[in-house]
Amino acid sequence: TRVLGIEGTAWCASAAVFDVTGDDVRIFSDAYQPDSGGIHPREAAEHMRSAIPAVVAEAVELVESKHGAPGGAIDAIAFSRGPGLGPCLRIAATAARALAGSLDLPLVGVNHMVAHLEIGRHRSGFDAPVCLNASGANAHVLGYHDGRYRVLGETMDTGIGNAIDKFTRHVGWTHPGGPKVERRAKDGEYVALPYVVKGMDFSFSGITSAAQDAIDDGTPVEDVCRGLQETTFAMLTEVSERALSLTGADELVLGGGVGQNGRLREMLETMCAERGASFYAPEPRFLRDNAGMIAVLGAKMYEAGDTITIDESRVRPDFRPDEVPVTWRADDGS
Ligand code: ATP
Repeated sequence: TRVLGIEGTAWCASAAVFDVTGDDVRIFSDAYQPDSGGIHPREAAEHMRSAIPAVVAEAVELVESKHGAPGGAIDAIAFSRGPGLGPCLRIAATAARALAGSLDLPLVGVNHMVAHLEIGRHRSGFDAPVCLNASGANAHVLGYHDGRYRVLGETMDTGIGNAIDKFTRHVGWTHPGGPKVERRAKDGEYVALPYVVKGMDFSFSGITSAAQDAIDDGTPVEDVCRGLQETTFAMLTEVSERALSLTGADELVLGGGVGQNGRLREMLETMCAERGASFYAPEPRFLRDNAGMIAVLGAKMYEAGDTITIDESRVRPDFRPDEVPVTWRADDGS
């Protein structure tokens, strides 16, 4: 099976080719970089519109150069249906429909958050892991039960990446803020910030405000960065541990752009080691938004016969992972 995937939920216009034989994933991406502030939805859509044709052309050319005419060399076109920014999703979906229609290929509509999870499961070979999705616009802990990935815990307000980026905008740093916070935190002393876990859910907005106040009060930025990372990542680690305990799973995978953070990976790794669980974080190109994960899950769905017609392919800006019937794995009922 060979699937061409298209990703366009927000900032990353991306296309990829996944060959099941050889487990080979080639990704072509073009990132939107705001001049100032965070992601502006209208600018993100303009970037998506101008960037999608070139990345899709690169993926098609790769197939053509290696395997001949794409219509005969690709089995399906997969695209991210949501969640994400509506205007961006519609542009990527239009490209996917045009390609599927013109090449007469089936279309696969992929949930972006399930793709963040499945790429970790695919690369690790784990069977039924708990997954921590720590991305820009989202933060949730998922566990597999009875044919679906259930949301065991999630943010009650913003995504973890957005919380960090909001803080760095206050400091005056350019987007994305996460890598800058990681670098500066290494030189900082821990400062306490509000730790908010309620049941299995967590909240970041109060922490962002407290971190901004600490900067305004003259606390060194390195120290606030350190406090911000230690606090938010400890919350994510606590809920991940409770999800492992609750489900009896002994495997944890990480997904999403904030998963590129070494300190988050270290905390999760330590927690897993202490309870005898296995931990896997995919390489950075599969953590941040990318079409590789869309193509990989698209191939699994295609092989399971989980395709949609163009008429059924409307985008879903609020698409939740627990709405997706998991058609591509054998269900042992556990
Ligand atoms: P979603 O997948 O929920 O739609 P998204 O499209 O914003 O979210 P991702 O690519 O998963 O995107 O994540 C982007 C986020 O990752 C940004 O908020 C960025 O600051 C954060 N990030 C990137 N590198 C790091 C890092 N080293 N440490 C912490 N955060 C990071």
